Amino acid sequence: MDNARLKKYAELLVRSGGNVQKGQVVVIGCSVDDAYFGRLVQECAYDAGASEVVMDWGDEASARAKFLRADDGIFDDFPQWKVDWYKHYDDKGAVYLRVSSTDPDYLAGVDPNRLRRFSKASGIATKAHSAIMMSNTNRWSVCAIPSPAWAKKVFPNVSEEEAMEKLWAAILKGARADGDNPQTDWEKHKDNFTDRVEYLNKMNFDSLRITTGLGTDITLGLVKNHVWVGGGDTGKDGVPFFPNLPTEEIFTMPDRTRANGRVVASMPLSRMGNLIEGFEMTFKDGLVDSFKAEKNEQALADMLGMDEGAKRLGEVALVTNSSPIGQMGVLFYNTLFDENASAHLALGKAYPNNMKGGDDMTTEKLVEAGGNDSLIHVDFMFGTADMKVIGIGADGTETVFFDNGEFI
Ligand code: ZN
Ligand code: ZN
Repeated sequence: MDNARLKKYAELLVRSGGNVQKGQVVVIGCSVDDAYFGRLVQECAYDAGASEVVMDWGDEASARAKFLRADDGIFDDFPQWKVDWYKHYDDKGAVYLRVSSTDPDYLAGVDPNRLRRFSKASGIATKAHSAIMMSNTNRWSVCAIPSPAWAKKVFPNVSEEEAMEKLWAAILKGARADGDNPQTDWEKHKDNFTDRVEYLNKMNFDSLRITTGLGTDITLGLVKNHVWVGGGDTGKDGVPFFPNLPTEEIFTMPDRTRANGRVVASMPLSRMGNLIEGFEMTFKDGLVDSFKAEKNEQALADMLGMDEGAKRLGEVALVTNSSPIGQMGVLFYNTLFDENASAHLALGKAYPNNMKGGDDMTTEKLVEAGGNDSLIHVDFMFGTADMKVIGIGADGTETVFFDNGEFI
């Protein structure tokens, strides 16, 4: 990838993604393998006026070595210093940027019990930090770049070099970062969401009935005072930002007690280095009643077993089939991309800003109002080219507003 293109992409993350303001602290999460890009993002953040840019380096290879070889006794422990570290930067109002290049198989073969214990320990320890991110108290943004292992997973039949090139091209196209001026393209992209979001908020449906040719037939009650969000977000300080590059979704908050019916996944789900394939779930009064998977059913069971909220829904998101990612027809094995190719649901915690006044509510109040709480928030895709959505009003009137994979 040429340097000018890389720089435009890094600037997109800093300026459109996190919308870094003068004098702000920026924290960049990045793998040591991607240091060349992490440092470029760091430079761009300083150029945007950041007072300090802190690098939070990660390394999947050493994480894998730990899961495979460390003493079994350590996996319930999460270091307090790291909790304090997050709090330190949360309190400074830091903008969190993340560069992801995850190998979908990097934890394959790891004892699932270790993964479950670690993800529970880290989920509990970082709950306050996650809540700050999910309520947009601090702005944050995630983008992806290819790694050789990820590229070969997506394009297995070509050389590693060619796979890297192909994945770069797919990522930049999917993230609308392949034009001459990505930041302007993103402003235009944002405008496309406005009408749809306004329409759905005006209709204020009581529930949605969603069906697909794969066998999904589910009715989702929406919380009262739900808010549809799409095309970016606004931080608590009023500064707009894009949490995800790419973003193609319009999403809102389902009622944690009013999901009924069957959902059949349309894509595999990559969860902690395991690929869950061919899965479906049945919901009764909001709770997962039964589930099955053709592959890695245990990983699905572990995810649902995290806590009570992990068996309930926290998000319903609509994505049109004509999005650039949907059109490419590439399976990325990466939620950031795959969730923007297809309508999806999330198991676990709801985004507070999907309810009027939600950002200022305590978790207890939010749950009382029908919003879900959990240590997890995991998107899984079920949308298809023939998906249909009927909005049902409080008086029972039905409006088909989405059919054959597109908004009507
Ligand atoms: Zn989503
Ligand atoms: Zn989500």
